[in-house]
Amino acid sequence: MSWKDQANAHIGELKPYEPGRPIEEVEKELGIRGAVKLASNENPLGPSPLAVQAVQEAVASVHRYPDGGCSELRARLSSHMGLPGDQFIFGSGADEILELVAKTFLSPGDEAVMPWPSFAMYPIVVKGMGGVPVTVPLDASLGHDFEGLLSQINDRTKLVFLCNPNNPTGTSFGADEFSQFISAVPENVIVVIDEVYIEFARRSDFPDSLALIAERPATLAMRSFSKLYGLAGLRVGYGIGSPEMVDLLERARHPFNVNSLAEVGACAALADQDHVRRTLEMNAEGVDYLTRELTGMGYEVFPTDTNFILVRMGPGFDQRLLEKGLIVRPMAGFGLEGHVRISIGLPEENEKLVKALHEIRQADGERTGSS
Ligand SMILES: *Cc1c(COP(=O)(O)O)cnc(C)c1O
Repeated sequence: MSWKDQANAHIGELKPYEPGRPIEEVEKELGIRGAVKLASNENPLGPSPLAVQAVQEAVASVHRYPDGGCSELRARLSSHMGLPGDQFIFGSGADEILELVAKTFLSPGDEAVMPWPSFAMYPIVVKGMGGVPVTVPLDASLGHDFEGLLSQINDRTKLVFLCNPNNPTGTSFGADEFSQFISAVPENVIVVIDEVYIEFARRSDFPDSLALIAERPATLAMRSFSKLYGLAGLRVGYGIGSPEMVDLLERARHPFNVNSLAEVGACAALADQDHVRRTLEMNAEGVDYLTRELTGMGYEVFPTDTNFILVRMGPGFDQRLLEKGLIVRPMAGFGLEGHVRISIGLPEENEKLVKALHEIRQADGERTGSS
């Protein structure tokens, strides 16, 4: 027997997460410059300048271990959100919080129910513990199918993942359907509500997951500094749960899982709410602009509550945009054949995308002789 055969089967069979392609890699491969990445839902304005400055100042102290309790960030978020500090669990990105949940609650054979398509890490963290992801297709308008989710919950179900607003579709659900669903979920099933795009949501009836946590301790909400706050490269995310939930997850984490630069950067980013406002304003304008332009070209654009749009374009468009230096995210791997997910960029980046699409369409028209 080879040493490799000794790997746990559920790890050996895992298919790794496929991230958006880095700008440098694409530029090198195509021999181009000035590629635009609209593929990973990053903040196109970059991080807050105050966060950059704070991180630069903190670099000189990296010979010290981080504050394992993340106490500065905990205190600031606690006052920012009006919640006790013992209701936060911090991680190296929200990704780590997902992993902590899986590690804490799943044994081999346990089931986790989730909508699909949704965030690609859910099945990965579940399989990583030998658990079984049970995927429930989104409904016809790409919203959560709550009846379908309920129908898959059984005695083996330990976890339910919800993603609101949902990645990669941008769709969201409202308070009424959510509370109806929750009241039908058995009390012992842990409900994880991934809200890393919550700040971008514009619907007025967005569910109040924090109120639910107070009533239902087997609930965890998840947030991140990667998207709105523009700190994807630093890796800071957090969960919000009952103190009992947080206490359990705390046992599963590494002592210094959030590095000291990440904590300092997150504190400064949180304090810069002007940067947040600029980001939200620019994003809303970008969503409206791209939706208008792409719809005008005849593409189906799904309504979004996030910093990206899902567009049905037809097969091959991701590759053709890539050849023009525009990196978008192909969706075929999610079963959304011919769809792409496009992150909202700076105004000039969005315009570049629209221009590239016009060029592609013109070339097609010329080739078929139809215009
Ligand atoms: C980006 C993303 C995450 C992970 O965020 P990090 O904090 O960067 O790990 C989690 N869930 C969803 C839905 C995401 O889109």
